[in-house]
Amino acid sequence: MAVSKSSASKSALRSIPGHADGPFAEIAPPFTDAEVLAEANRCLYCFDAPCTRACPTSIDVPSFIKKLATGNRQGAARVILEANVLGASCARVCPTEVLCEGACVHNLDQKRPIEIGRLQRTATDWAIERSWLPYGAGKTTGKRVAIVGAGPAGLACAAELRRLGDAVVLFDAKDKPGGLNTFGIAEYKLTAELALREVELVEKLGVELKLKTPVGGAGGPTYTQLLSQFDAVFIGVGLPRAVRLGVPGEDLPGVRQSLDFIEDVKAKAPRDVKVGRRVAVIGGGNTAVDAATQAKRLGAERVLMIYRRGLAEMSAFHYEIELLRTDGCELVLHASPIRIEGNSRVERLVCQRIELTAAGKPQPVPGTEFALEVDMVIAAIGQRLEEGPLAGVPGVDLGSGAIKVDAKTFRTGNPKIWSAGDCANGGAEVVNAVAEGRDAGRSIHATLNGKS
Ligand SMILES: Cc1cc2nc3c(=O)[nH]c(=O)nc-3n(C[C@H](O)[C@H](O)[C@H](O)COP(=O)(O)OP(=O)(O)OC[C@H]3O[C@@H](n4cnc5c(N)ncnc54)[C@H](O)[C@@H]3O)c2cc1C
Ligand code: SF4
Repeated sequence: MAVSKSSASKSALRSIPGHADGPFAEIAPPFTDAEVLAEANRCLYCFDAPCTRACPTSIDVPSFIKKLATGNRQGAARVILEANVLGASCARVCPTEVLCEGACVHNLDQKRPIEIGRLQRTATDWAIERSWLPYGAGKTTGKRVAIVGAGPAGLACAAELRRLGDAVVLFDAKDKPGGLNTFGIAEYKLTAELALREVELVEKLGVELKLKTPVGGAGGPTYTQLLSQFDAVFIGVGLPRAVRLGVPGEDLPGVRQSLDFIEDVKAKAPRDVKVGRRVAVIGGGNTAVDAATQAKRLGAERVLMIYRRGLAEMSAFHYEIELLRTDGCELVLHASPIRIEGNSRVERLVCQRIELTAAGKPQPVPGTEFALEVDMVIAAIGQRLEEGPLAGVPGVDLGSGAIKVDAKTFRTGNPKIWSAGDCANGGAEVVNAVAEGRDAGRSIHATLNGKS
């Protein structure tokens, strides 16, 4: 049977991976066509738009929304992807309430801000379905750059360098690229599958990807080798190590580090992830919230989030805390763990009350110990650099837990090494890593090719 042109091009489309139902069903499902038009037509197309200024990648938001309002999804995708090659994952994971949507002028009139993230998703899904990027590789310059880490920062740097014509080899320690987009971000926001589809777009630009290759680790090259083989090196290794609780009993079976637990949730079917009946999560940030909500969604009867300060001091975003509440997790504030007890595995978590000094410093209150009967403890008090592979690299200053870089150029103290993303900013959001990685790529290209 002859295949018509339209049905052939339709069959070439690859559907967008997402969870429609189950415990990890998407919390922000895609707009329908009618919703796209209605929402796009609410935009006032502000001059010097505050949403664009609030976006770390400076996407021209009114321009892409206007294109959506006229049914031009490809044009909208072009505007977004020119500024942000990971626009599809940012559409799903950006804390829009404190970025573009938080700056929307509708907020001033007490009206609902434009749902920029979901509109961005409509446009970028069009591109993902077609494996389409608005640009290809640039004219070959003959320069070669090694990128360490295939997370958002490394991918954005790689895409920018290829676009400008420099050759790129991307090294990652894991067996899959994408960094925390693939291994860390809650499935109900972003599936690992979609993160990998986005990486394919970057690979199509001619990026050579070397997986299971830890730089400075077993089986991988050293930084010294990369420096001698490449014209420049970009470090985007994130913060892969968990900060330990530092209390007795931390190594008992049943105690898990948040990143390992979350990685399991992303990599396995829900029924294959072990979760306790009564779970304590230690921490007050977004990672702690993610660990708590995912433990609850996996079937834990009770999830307690233990935080040493109060609600106002929690670093988790407001909407993340709301999610914690709607999922039925409980907050135990002004409390801190002092030991984990159990015979052969976790049986209880002993905490003490904490009060804040006038300067806001947490201080234990003597004689206030209390025990929580739990069978699983998840530590989520922060991530840190893996310093070993970087120790001794000339000119790379690890400062106070982050690689020191020039704020404009992202160059380190070593003239051949640049760095950006979590490992240099100390931990922020995907969109910050993308913006910084992209700008570092521009800085590397300009330096190698003698441009200003
Ligand atoms: C649990 C969790 C949930 C989050 N949720 C959100 C969210 O909802 N929204 C949001 O915007 N941000 C979120 N973030 C933050 C966001 O994921 C990070 O800011 C972002 O991924 C940083 O990108 P990156 O490229 O700097 O680092 P990463 O994403 O960490 O990527 C670093 C890469 O480097 C590789 N690597 C490390 N060491 C080596 C080595 N020696 N050799 C080779 N490769 C190496 C790693 O394997 C990894 O692939 C979350 C973070 C966590 C931990
Ligand atoms: S990348 Fe994020 S912050 Fe920027 S416009 Fe898109 S959703 Fe908003």
